[in-house]
Amino acid sequence: ATSQSYDYIVVGGGTSGLVLANRLSEDPGVSVLVVEAGSSVLNNVNVTDPNRYSMAFDTKLDWAYESVNQSFGGGPQVLRAGRALGGSSAINGMAYVRAQDVQVDAWEAIGNDGWTWETLFPYYLKSENFTIPAQTQVDAGATFESAEHGFQGPLRTAFPPMNATGELTPLINETLHALGIPWNRDINGGRMRGFSIYPWTLDGEIRHDAARAYYWPFANRANLHVLLDTRVNRILWAQPSNTTTDELTASGVEISLANTTSHIVAKKEVILSAGVLRSPALLELSGVGNPRILEAYGIPVMIDLPTVGENLQDQMNTLMTASGENIVTGGRTVTFATAQDIFGTTTASVAAALYAQLPAYAHQMATASHDAMPAEALLRLFHVQHDLIFKQNVPVAEIIFKPAGSDTTTINAGYWGLLPYARGSVHIASASPAANPSINPNYGLLPWDVQLQNAIARFIRSVFNTDPLRSFIKEETLPGLAAVPGNASDSVWTDWLKHNYASNFHPVGTTAMLPRSMGGVVNPHMKVYGTANVRVVDNSIHPFQLCGHPVSNLYAIAERAADLIKGDMKG
Ligand code: FAD
Repeated sequence: ATSQSYDYIVVGGGTSGLVLANRLSEDPGVSVLVVEAGSSVLNNVNVTDPNRYSMAFDTKLDWAYESVNQSFGGGPQVLRAGRALGGSSAINGMAYVRAQDVQVDAWEAIGNDGWTWETLFPYYLKSENFTIPAQTQVDAGATFESAEHGFQGPLRTAFPPMNATGELTPLINETLHALGIPWNRDINGGRMRGFSIYPWTLDGEIRHDAARAYYWPFANRANLHVLLDTRVNRILWAQPSNTTTDELTASGVEISLANTTSHIVAKKEVILSAGVLRSPALLELSGVGNPRILEAYGIPVMIDLPTVGENLQDQMNTLMTASGENIVTGGRTVTFATAQDIFGTTTASVAAALYAQLPAYAHQMATASHDAMPAEALLRLFHVQHDLIFKQNVPVAEIIFKPAGSDTTTINAGYWGLLPYARGSVHIASASPAANPSINPNYGLLPWDVQLQNAIARFIRSVFNTDPLRSFIKEETLPGLAAVPGNASDSVWTDWLKHNYASNFHPVGTTAMLPRSMGGVVNPHMKVYGTANVRVVDNSIHPFQLCGHPVSNLYAIAERAADLIKGDMKG
């Protein structure tokens, strides 16, 4: 049974939302409601079985958002996102890989007081319950540093079942070693460069998604309620009690269950955790956003905050393959490489050329946002990103080498540039809360993003051509030398890339945590500017892309957000 009023309403029972709901409801005197558009997937085998990755795609568990046509490569791209209790953590690839330390420090440097690796690190540990690898997994190559892991948190992380190294892992290890890239004992310690095997969000042989970790073991709390199959349409605002206060107060939310629409009261706060492609749309439907967009759909402007939905940053995912003479055995590995690894002796000139382009990039991206984002703010952010890449040596490339599986003699090298410069947007395309937003990631719009993706491809080719891997490989099969010859020019690689990239499913940034003057939507306590009691806590708040994979960071960020909210309430 649910009552009609709660202290906190969490919109979206996904990865971040369930962390908040759990922590806020630790106090039995505080009531929490989670409203989730999807259903429970506790016993859905396409969720629980880690070997069934992608089986949930295009089912009712997947929003399967489609972007607008992209100028790079033409057509639309599909951006997947989970629609279930557990959100995207219920359908994702389960990689548990954090950020590079200095990237989180950069959040503070650009104006978010209190956001550093050092302040976030305790929350990585608080969220995690790491399973020490068994001897068979150690024999198969699993390494870790105890000090980097938590052992008492709700989220189980573990190496996948590994019975033997197989051939591929040692082969790639030796080959990368020859190219100067070392084994990384634990990529989760804030230093990501190197080759490694990484933990998954896994409990034994069952996916540990946000619902299994943060909700089901606590589901009997009397003060924690979940409404499933229910959509939040918009935030409701209290009538201003006097005209002198300029902050808006949310009084609750409007929800739809089947064909019934009703209101629920929030006594303290409304927290949006609907994901990077939905939280900004909910703000716009509630009158918070760019007047140009709201007025087009007849939505009264409550808060003029034109950067809502801007700053969308996703990566381009591309696959190269090679065929071996024999059956390839082994597991899923990860390689994080820096600009120096990828660009070698040309790194300094690549850095200088990119630096010279940044004012033009900032200008182009400001124009793409219809000047919602100030060009000076973008330029400052772009300089910080340049510094991270070329001075602080944050990895720029991630490569997943693994046996293809289906085709037993094939090696896959899936890869993506970690820090593209393009910024896109997510905005409502209708006044109806049931409609999907219009999504434009602007993939490949800026030359650096394409240059980086091409340079990683060339690097992978050099890995294929270096011993001992070279003698193991029969031929490169994707793109293959017929499609992209050994001496191919940039434009040949670019043409191939245009038709061979997809979303990396790591979109971030659409309600960025930044000073308002720099285009921010939320403050360092994740409160939406101009509101007294509305926050966004999910992938939308990232000012920059973090290397690694989102959920490890999100669990920690949401844990810290819960403490900030509790602190604000006491204060
Ligand atoms: P979500 O977890 O997506 O939660 C948002 C929730 O809000 C959803 O449950 C949604 O149904 C609900 N919702 C939306 N709108 C409404 C509304 N109006 N009313 C009510 N509810 C609503 N990350 C990794 O770390 N490792 C990986 O291996 C990995 N692989 C991935 C593979 C795929 C296919 C995908 C899609 C993502 C992958 N990611 C991976 C990314 C990662 O899973 C997401 O970035 C992360 O889970 C997002 O968390 P979130 O809290 O921002 O939103």
